[in-house]
Amino acid sequence: MERRDFLKLALMSALAGGMAVDLQPATARGIPAAAFPGFPPEKCYQGPPAGVIRTALTDLFKVGPGPSSSHTIAPLRIANNFWTVLAGLPDEDLRRGAKIEARLFGSLSATGRGHRTDRAILAGLMGQQPETCDTRLMDELADPARKYAVAIRGVGFELSGATIIWDKHEHDYPYANTMIMWLLAADGAVICEREYYSTGGGFFAWKGQPADDRGEPAYPYGSMAGFREIVGASGKSLDEIMLANEKAIRRVSEREIYTHLDMVLTTMEEGVRLGLSEDGLLPAPFEFYRKAKQIYERSKAAGADERFMGQLSSYALAVSEGNAAGRLAVTAPTLGSAGTMPAIVYLMKNHLKFTRDAMRRGLLAAGLVGFLCKNNASVAGAEVGCQGEIGVAAAMAAAMLAHAAGAPLDVTEIAATIALEHHLGMTCDPVGGFVLLPCIERNAFGAVKAYNAWLIAKNEITARHWEDLDRVIAVMLETGRAMQPKFRETGKGGLATAMISC
Ligand code: SF4
Repeated sequence: MERRDFLKLALMSALAGGMAVDLQPATARGIPAAAFPGFPPEKCYQGPPAGVIRTALTDLFKVGPGPSSSHTIAPLRIANNFWTVLAGLPDEDLRRGAKIEARLFGSLSATGRGHRTDRAILAGLMGQQPETCDTRLMDELADPARKYAVAIRGVGFELSGATIIWDKHEHDYPYANTMIMWLLAADGAVICEREYYSTGGGFFAWKGQPADDRGEPAYPYGSMAGFREIVGASGKSLDEIMLANEKAIRRVSEREIYTHLDMVLTTMEEGVRLGLSEDGLLPAPFEFYRKAKQIYERSKAAGADERFMGQLSSYALAVSEGNAAGRLAVTAPTLGSAGTMPAIVYLMKNHLKFTRDAMRRGLLAAGLVGFLCKNNASVAGAEVGCQGEIGVAAAMAAAMLAHAAGAPLDVTEIAATIALEHHLGMTCDPVGGFVLLPCIERNAFGAVKAYNAWLIAKNEITARHWEDLDRVIAVMLETGRAMQPKFRETGKGGLATAMISC
């Protein structure tokens, strides 16, 4: 729908309701406390978070091998980072090194085998990078008994399953997913050590990491409320602000930004195409069959309503299945949730016939929602459960569709808000630590909910919508913090245990 159609709808709705026309982004939502006499003031919403978001689109949308952003891409990036640290060591230190070790804690240790964490670490220590890594090599790294020779600045090391130590599930490190990497001498003395954290969505950090020298955003904001104010004051669109910030933060040209966005869109579209062509079993210690292709084929023969839902679901399933098989996918915001946004991307391109420019603008809106969720809550199942992965993916997808369709900011925000709100409380309990059950189907539901959120948002009177994105993100964080650890990607509860018959 064109923007002018939205404005017409808003005007007609407002006139029908006898209300002021709401053509500007809403500045305040929330129900006045007077509606609930006696409601304790200290329980009222305390307002949007302060702070400035400096996350870049290249941080959020990362291309890499499946199946998990926190357990596969981040460990690969970490191991590759440690590889560069070793490559920069003084000669005498590097030559004293006898063994490289990676010690995994928390959920990385609990569910890392199912997530190919060990293969990712070995690949990273072989110098592989996520965007360009050889996924067939990753397949071959499965055998823990096999030994691999690597050379770092001419010094040889041996890697094998013994390089990885699966350590304690419960620990006191500041992040759930902690990984310590060592270069050890023959007598066990530590020559080089770095304590890394996989913080969700393929992001990683390390203890004592210096602040990076990124530029300051051209339009600083820390919340959706802040972003709305910028739009109101500057007269600029969501995508113009996002582009200006990306340029300023990464000190890159618009062209470089579009190159990255196009790579993201292409990887997503390719993921759907490839997944719809493949059949058979997925790698797992139990029989788990792909179903995207079959659902796609059968949906084509169904009636119009069923066809649409079936095809949209099959697009999400196709990418999620490919991700589970270790194919390249995009963190959106994670790999566990890598199928939700591509389903909407494929829909925009092949059903709605959106232009590349519109899709890029949509991706920028998805980026805004992802940034807010990542910075003001979390996108890690290990921290806030699946609401942070599939919930955020659905919110990003809904915003992408709305903005690409030309919706005003309030409609885009409400679409994202609805999509996230109706994933609140969702736990993370993948069976055996494999991103299969419930993850693959969950992506299909995320895509369907994203589309539904958009339908509701574009057809309602926005001024009557109470919820806003900042509040729902705050609730996601509160809910995630209250969630028992067994529901946060530890494999100790929910479907991860109920599905096992002894
Ligand atoms: S259950 Fe959800 S959060 Fe957990 S691994 Fe699967 S997709 Fe990710």
